[in-house]
Amino acid sequence: MIFQENTPIANTFGINTQSRYFAEYKDISELQEILNSDIFKKNKFLHIGAGSNLLFLSDFNGVILHSKIQGITECRGVASNAHYADEVFLRAGAGVLWDDFVKYTVEMGFFGAENLSLIPGEVGAAAVQNIGAYGVEAKDIISAVETVEISSGETRIFTNEECRFAYRESIFKDEEKGKYIVTSVTFRLSKTPIFRLDYGNLSECPKDLPAIRETIIKIREEKLPDYKVLGNAGSFFKNPYICIAHYEGLKKHYPTLPHYPVNDEVVKIPAAWLIEQCGWKGKSLGNAAVYDKQALVIVNKGGATAQEIKALSDKIIADVKGKFHIDICPEVNFIG
Ligand SMILES: Cc1cc2nc3c(=O)[nH]c(=O)nc-3n(C[C@H](O)[C@H](O)[C@H](O)COP(=O)(O)OP(=O)(O)OC[C@H]3O[C@@H](n4cnc5c(N)ncnc54)[C@H](O)[C@@H]3O)c2cc1C
Repeated sequence: MIFQENTPIANTFGINTQSRYFAEYKDISELQEILNSDIFKKNKFLHIGAGSNLLFLSDFNGVILHSKIQGITECRGVASNAHYADEVFLRAGAGVLWDDFVKYTVEMGFFGAENLSLIPGEVGAAAVQNIGAYGVEAKDIISAVETVEISSGETRIFTNEECRFAYRESIFKDEEKGKYIVTSVTFRLSKTPIFRLDYGNLSECPKDLPAIRETIIKIREEKLPDYKVLGNAGSFFKNPYICIAHYEGLKKHYPTLPHYPVNDEVVKIPAAWLIEQCGWKGKSLGNAAVYDKQALVIVNKGGATAQEIKALSDKIIADVKGKFHIDICPEVNFIG
C-alpha cells in the first residue's frame, strides 16, 4: 500500500487544496492494510468520493482515503424488505461512478434509479448522502450497505432500516460519522415498469426508461451549471422544515410562499425561494456568486477561495434568518 504525499484533493468547486497523505485501495484487504498502518493510526483522516459535496477550508493535514472498488454484479438480496414482484438486486462497488451505475440500470431495463441520472459522485457517497432528485431518493432503492468498521477493520452490513435514511441524511453522516467506510451498496430494482413521474414537468415524459433518463439529463444540464466550467457542489443548502404555525404566520406577509406538506405539523420550504426573496439570485460576493438560474447553487466565478464561498454562505444564512426567521443549513460538507 502506498501513501502519496502532498496531493491535490479532488473537488467540484475548483478550489486548490492538498492533503498531507492520500491513499486509494481496490478491495477490502487493501483497505484493512491501510487502516492498520502507522501513518493512518497517527493522523486524522477523511474518506472522500469524487469531492462533489465538499468544501475544504484549508489544506488537509491528515490522510485522505478514496475507494477504487469497482464492479456491478447481480446478487441475492441481503435484506428482507423486498417488495417488488419481479425484482433484481445489484451490488455496486463504492468507487463506481454514480451515473455509470444509473446508466447501467437503464441499459439493463431495471427500474428505480433513472430519476437520479447525472448526479455527480460515487456509489459509496450516494448511500452516505442519501442523494435525491425528481421525487426519488437513494434510500428508495438501497437494500443494504456493506462497510468496514474503522476501529476494528471488520466488515459489517447495514440493512436499509439500520442506515436510518432521512432527507440527505444517513447514520454514516450522523451517529456513526467517521466510524465506517462504505465498500459496496446493494440496490433493489424492479424488472417490471414502475415510473415516478409526478415531479415537476416529468408527467409529460414518455413512459420509457431511456427517454426518462434523457429528459432528466436535459433538464439538469439546462438548470445546473457545469462544474467543470463554473465550480459548484449542486444545491448548497438543504430545504428547511418549519412548523405549520410559523408557515401560516409567514403566509400572511408572503402570500406566494411555496411549501410542501411533510406531515400534520411540519412543511418544507424551498430554500431557493427564500434566497431569491433576499435578493441574492445572480449576486456575487468577491469571486463567489449565487447562480443566476438557480438560487440554491453557489458558484466559483473563477479564483474564488473556500473562505469567499463560506462568507457568501454565511451572509445568505443570516439574511434568510433576518427576513423569515428560518434557519437554512448547508448541504455541502465543510472540512477544516
Ligand atoms: C452539479 C452538481 C449537482 C448535484 N446534484 C445533486 C442532486 O440532484 N441531488 C443530490 O442529492 N446531490 C447532488 N449533488 C451533490 C453530490 O453529487 C452528492 O452529494 C454526491 O453523493 C457526492 O458524491 P461524492 O462521491 O462526490 O462524495 P464526496 O463529496 O467526496 O463526499 C460526500 C460525503 O460522503 C463521505 N464519503 C464518500 N465516500 C465514502 C465512503 N466510501 N465511505 C464513507 N463515507 C464516504 C464523505 O466523507 C463526505 O462526508 C450535486 C453536486 C453537483 C456538483
